[in-house]
Amino acid sequence: MSRPALFLDRDGTLIEERGYIDRLDLIAVYPWTGDALRLARRAGFAVVVITNQSAIARGIIDEAFLQQVHRELDARLAPGGARIDRYYYCPHFPDARIEQYRRDCRCRKPGPGLIEEACREMDLDPARSVMVGDRWIDVACGAAAGTKTILVRSGHGAHEADVPPADVRADAILNNLMEAVGWMLRTSSRS
Ligand SMILES: [Mg+2]
Ligand SMILES: [Zn+2]
Repeated sequence: MSRPALFLDRDGTLIEERGYIDRLDLIAVYPWTGDALRLARRAGFAVVVITNQSAIARGIIDEAFLQQVHRELDARLAPGGARIDRYYYCPHFPDARIEQYRRDCRCRKPGPGLIEEACREMDLDPARSVMVGDRWIDVACGAAAGTKTILVRSGHGAHEADVPPADVRADAILNNLMEAVGWMLRTSSRS
């Protein structure tokens, strides 16, 4: 039977929003991230990062450096016993400087492509899953893929929460990832 997942935006959700992360010392994990991920995994949720990385298309970083960022993030979470199962990223951008990434793709959020790919490859059930992010594009991505959605007020959420677009609604708007995981566990135990 397919498993539920906690789908996560990266910047502004797991780690502080610092613009394009092009140096490892820009990675700043929120103090609650490790505990939130451990709780989710203990409850049987796969933990999957869903991230737009147009910095690759723009030539700011390359895919090898992105892997390095994610290895560093894993290394910082490991001592507290937290783990991310998999990272899915979109390297594309319609106006990309680097031609191989110049594309109007389905995987760039708010498109649902990355969540759909994760569900296929990891046998995850979107209907029992939650997408958490600090921007409305994260919420729209989850909604398009059929997950529940939470906007967090960390990162861009501090201002985006107050200006919801007309066509997107989150199931909940909460302060941070820890509150989001609490909501997810309460909601899933009821169903
Ligand atoms: Mg974000
Ligand atoms: Zn893409």
